[in-house]
Amino acid sequence: MGPRKRKNEDALEDEKEVDNITKKEEAVEEERGGRKRSRGNKYIGAHVGIQGGIWKAVESCVEMGGYSFALFLGSQRSWKRPALDQKAAEKFQEQRCQHGFDPAHILPHGSYLMNCGSPKDDVFEKSQALLVDELNRCSLLGLSLYNFHPGSSLGTITTEQCVEKIAGAINHAHQQTPSVVTVLENMSGQGSTVGGKFSELKSIIHKVRDQTRVGVCLDTCHAFAAGYDLAAEGGVTAMLDEFDQEVGLHYLRAIHLNDSKGKLGCHLDRHEDIGKGNIGISAFRDIVNEPRLDNIPLILETPGRPGFEYPEQIELLYSLCETK
Ligand SMILES: [Zn+2]
Ligand SMILES: [Zn+2]
Repeated sequence: MGPRKRKNEDALEDEKEVDNITKKEEAVEEERGGRKRSRGNKYIGAHVGIQGGIWKAVESCVEMGGYSFALFLGSQRSWKRPALDQKAAEKFQEQRCQHGFDPAHILPHGSYLMNCGSPKDDVFEKSQALLVDELNRCSLLGLSLYNFHPGSSLGTITTEQCVEKIAGAINHAHQQTPSVVTVLENMSGQGSTVGGKFSELKSIIHKVRDQTRVGVCLDTCHAFAAGYDLAAEGGVTAMLDEFDQEVGLHYLRAIHLNDSKGKLGCHLDRHEDIGKGNIGISAFRDIVNEPRLDNIPLILETPGRPGFEYPEQIELLYSLCETK
């Protein structure tokens, strides 16, 4: 690869102008009828809230200029939640169709309570049940993907035993539910979480019976914290090559776009705004120009700061795309 291109602020501003015009034209066309929501081959968006109704997630994404989104499927605080309201689910589907989102560009994020690798029997049972419930919610919403953190051994069982439990929970959920793809997220390697190394993701996938229903979402902050050097020149290419060799690119269903507050290999899960952390803007330029990442959701989970919230970060990322 040649030397990195660094554009000055003015050039970025110019590109933003052009992009805004393209965006408006596309928005108008979209209104004219049934067109898919897209802006080139990259589907950049963010994790949006579901306050006031799950269907509101769709509009929130549109309002911030996103082309893909993540959302939670219910409260993050309780194991047992009221069933998803049928009317709310229908409204969500209406909104999704109206705005032209493909289900493959919507990536629900699993509950943080879940630990499908837990050595504690009660937690494992509850996690297994919650996984089934969440996949059923996805089906009700007409969604095809479901992303979750694989699990943690809590340091009391081996990684292999933990992997076994996670794959067991996935196999159980696949038996109980139709068609939704369970998407494993790579971890930062904090504590005793499993999935920081690509080899661990591979081990889980190998134990899943229906491999058409398992995939991976790569979080850039987690990868960097786990030791994959995205900040180095060619770092994005190197990570994807390694992922392809170790796991297989056909399993890659999504990317979480996060810069990192922590240093390379720190194992800390600390998200930072795009270009403001230790990964840096060059890696994100490479990501939005990487053809292997076409047509999958690229989702921000950054903290945001005044004047640089999701809309600005999405716009910045689109401005870095060299081919439109
Ligand atoms: Zn996550
Ligand atoms: Zn994270």
